[in-house]
Amino acid sequence: MANCPYCGEKLSYKRLLPISWKSRTGVECPNCHQTSYNSADMRKKSTLIVLIIPLLLIIKDLFNIAFPFMYGIFFMLIVGFILALPLFVKLTKKEEPLW
Ligand SMILES: [Zn+2]
Repeated sequence: MANCPYCGEKLSYKRLLPISWKSRTGVECPNCHQTSYNSADMRKKSTLIVLIIPLLLIIKDLFNIAFPFMYGIFFMLIVGFILALPLFVKLTKKEEPLW
């Protein structure tokens, strides 16, 4: 789990969770009350999930998978991603530009 870049305080999963879907949101440290941000590197990686969407659509056509089934897989991927992201978040003091 990520530590506060200012004081090294370990930040809880619950506190980090909003970054998963709001990438431009900072996290306030409960110890020093400074705001830190998800690193640009991690934000780039998290945008990769968007690239999976067209890929899934291609796979769906290739294998003729029923659409509701595909939605199920897609939904699980998104939820899994959002829940797993706080475990891999790296925090920086400043909001880094993405590119
Ligand atoms: Zn702190």
